Amino acid sequence: MPLFPTTIAGSLPKPAWLAEPNKLWAPWRISGVELTDAKRDATLLALKLQEDCGIDIVTDGEQSRQHFVHGFLEAVDGIDFARKVEIGIRADRYKAMVPTVTGALRLKDRVHAREAQVARAHTQRKLKFTLPGPMTIADTVADEFYRERVKLALAFAEVLNKEARALEADGVDVIQFDEPAFNVYMAEVVDWGIAALERAMEGLSCTTAVHICYGYGIKANIEWKATLGSEWRQYEAIFPALAKSLIDQLSVECRNSRVPMSLLKLLDGKAVQVGVIDVASDHIETPEQVAAVVAEAAKYVAKENIIASTNCGMAPMRRDIALAKLAALGKGAELARKKFG
Ligand code: ZN
Repeated sequence: MPLFPTTIAGSLPKPAWLAEPNKLWAPWRISGVELTDAKRDATLLALKLQEDCGIDIVTDGEQSRQHFVHGFLEAVDGIDFARKVEIGIRADRYKAMVPTVTGALRLKDRVHAREAQVARAHTQRKLKFTLPGPMTIADTVADEFYRERVKLALAFAEVLNKEARALEADGVDVIQFDEPAFNVYMAEVVDWGIAALERAMEGLSCTTAVHICYGYGIKANIEWKATLGSEWRQYEAIFPALAKSLIDQLSVECRNSRVPMSLLKLLDGKAVQVGVIDVASDHIETPEQVAAVVAEAAKYVAKENIIASTNCGMAPMRRDIALAKLAALGKGAELARKKFG
């Protein structure tokens, strides 16, 4: 691994022949066997594009799932998708139609076997795979069974752990749990969120990571960010507890964010996936801008612990812009190696 290795938060936009472009929850364009084949083809493309841009730790681009939470839930027993209700999620930041938990949660079958195995077979690079975290899932469903958030999250953690162990057996090198809810319910994170996450990663010997961001670049998030004031200090409440946790890597939002970079100091000893690419803006970062964020992070994180990444997933972005940003990420990390390596 070079100094400042690169990765992406997880998702890339899907090709227009696979799903409707430029939106979250985009409907598939095809179905049946054709869809299965198209997902595989899109996964191969996502790998190739990352490799060509100099990304060191690649992902499947999340080409096989419609949404990072509900793609997982479809394989879980105890969830009734026919009973979708509208609830406010992330402390009511936005409304979403979510399915209802109506019974004990159990994994029906493997969730991501196909795409993980396809990706593993077609790249020699380190492979990262993303799963939703237990607190975020618990925040994205209606619950009529467990009736207590902690119990619900722990039940999801058990289910996630089964899939995570199987992904490790598929040859995945890094398993990353996405927990945008960690920036919303800070007291609960310290209380039980990290414990639920550790339950989800129990028994894994591969590298583990948690991604905590301020969300995709969609309108509701941009409006929410505008209310957070001149300094975003959410991380300050949870980083000390995360530093003591069993999680190996933290994936955080830095580029164009109002997070004081000095907060990274609180993650002492952990590897940090530093978000050097803003996914909420169509402006393409220059390599110099990317290298500057790396340099700033290096004031607070040991150089060998810095991984250059994107602030969040790029799923809802225009594909040409996402690809240009991917190239900027690779070039920027290269420049950072030259300048500060
Ligand atoms: Zn994110």
